[in-house]
Amino acid sequence: MAKTKTTFFCQNCGAQSAKWQGQCTSCKQWNTIAEEVIQKAEKATWDISQTNTSATIRASKPQKVSEISTNAEARINTKNKELNRVLGGGLVPGSLTLLGGEPGIGKSTLMLQIALQLPYKTLYVSGRGKCAAN
Ligand SMILES: [Zn+2]
Repeated sequence: MAKTKTTFFCQNCGAQSAKWQGQCTSCKQWNTIAEEVIQKAEKATWDISQTNTSATIRASKPQKVSEISTNAEARINTKNKELNRVLGGGLVPGSLTLLGGEPGIGKSTLMLQIALQLPYKTLYVSGRGKCAAN
């Protein structure tokens, strides 16, 4: 059984705190602390009844630094030189990138411009969290 635990996170900067506070001690924003439920596994054990018993469980083992592959990750060119630079060479396929910024700064405009220039079908998803300022 998994234990549930609640903790408090600042919705502005992500700082974690053990108790609710009116002001974030990290970014000094007011009313940005929200309680979130965290699932905590009691023990790292395998539930054999729910796993394929023929599956092999490979233990991770230490590797020499010289044996670690340092091949550059494949990157998707966003066709925007500055965005590619900020992303470390472009988007990593299968990755998730969180874009943050002040309201009206141009996040949606930038993303729509990028989506139009990509040679792929693109799904634009936009959302917002609870904001105490509005
Ligand atoms: Zn904060």
